[in-house]
Amino acid sequence: MSALPPLDPPPLDPPFDGPSVPANGHGKVDWASVRADFPLLLREVHGKPLIYFDNANTGQKPACVIEAVDGYYRRHNANVSRAVHQLGTEATEAYEGTRRKLARFLNVRADELVLCSGTTFAINLVAYSWALPRLGPGDTILVSRMEHHANIVPWQIVAERTGATVRVAEIVEDGTLDLEALRRAMTADVKLLAVTHVSNVLGTVNPVREICREARRHGIVTVVDGSQAVPHRRVDIAAIGCDFYAFTGHKMCGPTGTGALWARREHLEAMPPFLGGGEMIKEVAFGGTVYNDPPQRFEAGTPNIAGFAGLGAAVDYLERLGMDHIEQREAALLAHLTQALGTIDGLRILGAAPDKAAVVSFLVEGAHAHDLATLLDLEGVAVRSGQHCAHPLLQFYGVAATCRASPAFYNTHDEIDAFVAALRKVRRLLG
Ligand code: PMP
Repeated sequence: MSALPPLDPPPLDPPFDGPSVPANGHGKVDWASVRADFPLLLREVHGKPLIYFDNANTGQKPACVIEAVDGYYRRHNANVSRAVHQLGTEATEAYEGTRRKLARFLNVRADELVLCSGTTFAINLVAYSWALPRLGPGDTILVSRMEHHANIVPWQIVAERTGATVRVAEIVEDGTLDLEALRRAMTADVKLLAVTHVSNVLGTVNPVREICREARRHGIVTVVDGSQAVPHRRVDIAAIGCDFYAFTGHKMCGPTGTGALWARREHLEAMPPFLGGGEMIKEVAFGGTVYNDPPQRFEAGTPNIAGFAGLGAAVDYLERLGMDHIEQREAALLAHLTQALGTIDGLRILGAAPDKAAVVSFLVEGAHAHDLATLLDLEGVAVRSGQHCAHPLLQFYGVAATCRASPAFYNTHDEIDAFVAALRKVRRLLG
């Protein structure tokens, strides 16, 4: 007999009631109990305890997020904004509740947040709806050297179609942006600047507030890729002062296929739709269609409602834990990891920015990154190897591939020691 769903669904949008961080009795966060919130971290891989160091790729999910998705399908599933019945109201509330939570979490207005599948969609929305109709021959799009392909290729497509040019904002050897060169590159032909908040390869934290202020002085519209920032530190989009800010839910404890674009209201008002269909219209007739107001204008079709129910739970979870606690914890893990890797002969770390998130790309003399990652996997360690969707950045360093270890707050110092021991072992195996 199948289990019936509980009759009393929990409220969908419980009020956030301030930090209730599990403490260890000394006023510190009890990170062991935080780790226990993540069921997947209990599993083994190839008979070894899993050490998951691929968080820059995607993060693991706490039980509350998994339960929010499960609970949504068990108790509330319906479509949004279309039905007047109770379930339709609950589904709409799950979805819109997350928009409000994200707005509070990032200090922006909810009606300036377009919910979508993630950063890739968000940046393409800016490219197709803002840039394509506005740019033309003679215009320049400045793109930093350290961008993920999601913040490069859409601009190349815009350039191809409009005759605009893509110009590179270069970095220096330690993996920071050449800010002086960037300032000089902000010439009158530059209409848009695409820059990441935090590099997914080097961990570099860019001074986006200063960069956006300078760009604004030159009348340049700014697109900030926040994929690697929002999960790891307190982000105040209003304080950054950009025009567009994109981020992804699956790296911030939320489900895959969720994310958002924040944009200044005046941009959203002026942008034509990207995709056409249901939800994004007010009225449709063969004689002409009236589009909906933003943000719904950009949310055609049935969204990932269950995913956004989960993302709402993820925001609650991160807020309860406190982004400042997360940042401190990851800084300690990064310091430990950097020091421990420094004891391995022939190991080179790419990127040494003074402000750096817990992302460490490294090369080991005489060993290919893929071989290292494959052998590490047999030791239960998950790291990424390759070009990390950042070919131009690896070209700058003249390397074909790196290994990347990216711990998160739920990882432990013991795991770092075990990882470095495993790395020594596989390196010996590779001769
Ligand atoms: N930008 C950066 C900096 C990233 O790290 C990623 C994910 N690796 C993306 C963009 C793309 O995000 P998504 O695949 O969720 O759209």
